[in-house]
Amino acid sequence: MTQARKPVIVVHGGAGTWRPERSQAGLEGVKKAAKTGFHILKHGGSAVDSVIEAVEVMEDEGTFNAGYGSSLNIEKRVEMEASIMDGETLQAGAVGLLKDVKNPVRLARVVMEKTDHVFVVGEGAEKLAKTFNLERRKSTTALRLKYYEEQRKALLEGKFELPKLVSLIKDRPELFRLETVGAVALDKNGNVAAATSTGGFPLKLPGRIGDSPLIGCGTYADNQAGACSATGVGEIAIRLVLAKTVCSYMESGKTAQEAVELAIRLVNQRLAATYNSMGLIAVDIHGKIGAAHNSPNLCLAYVTSGKQEPVASLTATVVK
Ligand code: ASP
Repeated sequence: MTQARKPVIVVHGGAGTWRPERSQAGLEGVKKAAKTGFHILKHGGSAVDSVIEAVEVMEDEGTFNAGYGSSLNIEKRVEMEASIMDGETLQAGAVGLLKDVKNPVRLARVVMEKTDHVFVVGEGAEKLAKTFNLERRKSTTALRLKYYEEQRKALLEGKFELPKLVSLIKDRPELFRLETVGAVALDKNGNVAAATSTGGFPLKLPGRIGDSPLIGCGTYADNQAGACSATGVGEIAIRLVLAKTVCSYMESGKTAQEAVELAIRLVNQRLAATYNSMGLIAVDIHGKIGAAHNSPNLCLAYVTSGKQEPVASLTATVVK
């Protein structure tokens, strides 16, 4: 049984390094997303509707590595991913390898609500989008093309080798700008939800799937615990089943903030601080929020019932 709660939403616009050229747009974008999501909660809407709408706003911005602003893979093509989880029913939907679906998170919702599956990728997912008349859009911004050229040049100069992801991140973290988007919310009925959307890791191999669409890794929600969305190097979140780990900490009584900090500490300990790019946001079932990262930045915004207006920043608690 769920209890009446004061609604709250937290959104993120990605971990990594936020360069000054995009910082303002990033902060404005997360504020807009948090405000949109909170508006739904304030008027009695569900946590699921709230996180979907918030993520959609960020997919449309072009500033974030999701939807319109998606990073390009090594072949200069977009392959987007997204997921959604409903903490009340434990229903979930996820999509991957999308080329031109305007709002991947919307398609993830179709998978959750209209199919018997959890995860649909590639041609099958595109076909599903067509069946449900979802809008299409070519997802390449001038900024992403610029970043691609910069990253590719570095690659060609032998500054990094793509398959050696570990040494790549360790030696040249500045090459990675990770700005996936995500949202977690608690509605007035005590239901939680989480959603995450991304263009994936820049210069990734075609066919690579990250944590964002993997339930338990990039996204998790359970009314008995809370909700979590991750951003950063997807391979870390997959190997540590990070979003579910955060929820398990909350289920065992930790607050959202304690849970995300413990999880980042786990990343630092278990992966020996090799990776410096992970960020987590969470909300627990009591309405407490949490945000922590070991990346240089985490772009985020939140709205709680007491505040009404979104509070945004480019850092939260940094866990070393
Ligand atoms: N987690 C995403 C991925 O690895 C990237 C990001 O968070 O920006 O695909």
